[in-house]
Amino acid sequence: MPRRHRRRVEEPAPPRRPTAEAPLWALVPDAEVRRVSGEKPYRCPGCDHEIRPGVWHLVIVPREDADARRHWHEGCWRIELNRTRGRRGG
Ligand SMILES: [Zn+2]
Repeated sequence: MPRRHRRRVEEPAPPRRPTAEAPLWALVPDAEVRRVSGEKPYRCPGCDHEIRPGVWHLVIVPREDADARRHWHEGCWRIELNRTRGRRGG
């Protein structure tokens, strides 16, 4: 029988970020971008999958219409930005 008598080593606290600042790359001119972690699941419009509660992700809040805010996985938002920025082409 394996002996499982591990002493409780200081477990690293779960990473909690006090600030909700979005990474620079994620910012868009006509919306406010914040990094959040919620208590309920959200649907990511990028991959159409769920963002699970407690997972840090981005919320994009259009300045004109705050009710139209969307929650995105960081990776999906990055892809979306690549797409739309590529399309506009400057
Ligand atoms: Zn996604």
